[in-house]
Amino acid sequence: MQVSVDFLTVNLCEKDNYRYGGRYHITNAAETKKVGSDDLQTMGAIMEREAMEFDVVIVGGGPSGLSAAIRLKQLAAESGREIEVCLIEKGSEVGAHILSGAVLEPRSLNELIPDWKERGAPLDTPVTADKFMFLTETGSFRLPTPPQMNNHGNYIISLGNFCRWLGEQAEALGVEIYPGFAAAEVLYDDSDAVCGIATGDMGIGKNGEQTEMYMRGMELRAKQTIFAEGCRGHLTKTLFDRFDLREGKDPQTYAIGIKELWDIDPEKSKPGTAWHSVGWPLSTDTYGGSFLYHLNGNQVAVGYVVGLDYSNPHLSPFEEFQRFKTHPAVRGVFEGGRRVAYGARALNEGGFQSIPKLTFPGGCLVGCTAGFLHVPKIKGTHTAMKSGMTAAEAIFESLEAMQPGHEPASYAERLQDSWLWSELYKVRNIRPGFAKGLWRGMINAAIDTYLFMGRAPWTMRHHADHITLKTASEAPKIDYPKPDGVISFDRNSSVYLSGTNHEENQPAHLTLKDSSVPIEHNLALYDAPEQRYCPAGVYEIVREEDGSSPRLQINAQNCVHCKTCDIKDPSQNIVWVTPEGGGGPNYPNM
Ligand SMILES: Cc1cc2nc3c(=O)[nH]c(=O)nc-3n(C[C@H](O)[C@H](O)[C@H](O)COP(=O)(O)OP(=O)(O)OC[C@H]3O[C@@H](n4cnc5c(N)ncnc54)[C@H](O)[C@@H]3O)c2cc1C
Ligand code: SF4
Repeated sequence: MQVSVDFLTVNLCEKDNYRYGGRYHITNAAETKKVGSDDLQTMGAIMEREAMEFDVVIVGGGPSGLSAAIRLKQLAAESGREIEVCLIEKGSEVGAHILSGAVLEPRSLNELIPDWKERGAPLDTPVTADKFMFLTETGSFRLPTPPQMNNHGNYIISLGNFCRWLGEQAEALGVEIYPGFAAAEVLYDDSDAVCGIATGDMGIGKNGEQTEMYMRGMELRAKQTIFAEGCRGHLTKTLFDRFDLREGKDPQTYAIGIKELWDIDPEKSKPGTAWHSVGWPLSTDTYGGSFLYHLNGNQVAVGYVVGLDYSNPHLSPFEEFQRFKTHPAVRGVFEGGRRVAYGARALNEGGFQSIPKLTFPGGCLVGCTAGFLHVPKIKGTHTAMKSGMTAAEAIFESLEAMQPGHEPASYAERLQDSWLWSELYKVRNIRPGFAKGLWRGMINAAIDTYLFMGRAPWTMRHHADHITLKTASEAPKIDYPKPDGVISFDRNSSVYLSGTNHEENQPAHLTLKDSSVPIEHNLALYDAPEQRYCPAGVYEIVREEDGSSPRLQINAQNCVHCKTCDIKDPSQNIVWVTPEGGGGPNYPNM
């Protein structure tokens, strides 16, 4: 096999991560070398990564990363300057890994691209009706719509398609977008400042060996790196530790959102209707509820969100969602229809008191990787966009004179002066109020909203989600009905509709810190809750025919990248790392 080697170097100075500078260049041969597979193994060990230099590198092609990219290029165009902006996305294309409700509040879009209508933004379904319901097992009644859930002026959209459109706008402005590449490693310079990222190596086999497809990852170096990885960003977690970004902040808390897209009977279609419910099938001690949005084109987006601070290890968010669809208040919507897509994604719910320090030498965090979701609104897109735009403005102002390792501290200051900060501050006590159950949460929310108007002289605290589980023997078992294959489904047929695909011959991207924990701790104490909270059937306890020798089987190829296991595993033993770029779900219109 032939390998073209353009730039072969050896690292003299490697700590835990690659360090920028201090490199010894042994050859720079723009020639083609013939190597055998043995040579390839040896060469891989010394083959240095190719590197590209940019002013700004952005990790993640969601609304926050794309808004940052667009704003940077807009500012450069306005001031007649050239800047190089690169955005990297682990999905096979921009939008492939995006899953949301979604009702879009267009406030940030109006600021970023005021003529979005003329530019054909896919905002086709204005919200025309809001309904907020309480469900009992057999009945339902309407609740007053809380002010935060009033969607007048908002649009029901596919966030994936919106991101595809934002990607086109960014490319038209000259942003270099590389989909199909996962940022697998943060690069640090000699002063320990972030100086870019490296994409993962491709063509590594299951056991860590290099296959014929082996390709060394690439270094994307930059004066500033913006991390826009979305909820529970994998590299962001390493930055939290390295720079103590969470010190003095509340733990982040999360929920899992599971969603399906249905083609429905045209006679049942009510484009513009946004419908939410609380209550059945969840018990009142578990935070969560449903959304059901009627889009144009006889489609319905339906989903269920369950707070990951739930305490019953027998609970299965996937099965709660399947049960919900059978309720008499909604069942009819799906009858005669066809499910066309499925997926899941975690969302963050910590709000104001869980926002980490946002900057560090060499870069910053934007969007849901930092945690800007407005929980009572169930909306994080407008805040993600605003944070991306604000980071871009802060970075651009000092980019020209910027020294390596500059910390864009003015980003946090600008954000604190923006509407985003006061919006999140006002609702900071609503989500933690639900830790004591639905009714107390609703009363607290009403008092906080109508009496204190978000200005209560206290701030309620959060706890981490992985510490909330009771043991299996302490919690009631839940008997979920079998799926009927018409309205409710099993995990396998669901994952099929997510278009998920991973190269099978690659190291598992769901790693265990300690391989004894799943059986000796999780199974023994909690009846292996990963079997139930994973919405893709990745974790299975398999046994011998006689029921002996239980072991955890990880079907990593099914993973839809929701990150729930990384969050909810009771001993934080599961660590989600990036698989080969391009792997994972291929969501069409989610
Ligand atoms: C079920 C559900 C319903 C929701 N409903 C609404 C709603 O109705 N309205 C609303 O406004 N918000 C809603 N949200 C929240 C909203 O989707 C998020 O707030 C928003 O998507 C956050 O944008 P982001 O850019 O920060 O992250 P994301 O949208 O998550 O985008 C992050 C991107 O980065 C990529 N990425 C991550 N890590 C890497 C890496 N290491 N290398 C390369 N690429 C990487 C991902 O593949 C992804 O494309 C909902 C969320 C969920 C889960
Ligand atoms: S393995 Fe983890 S990240 Fe993947 S789908 Fe399951 S819970 Fe989500």
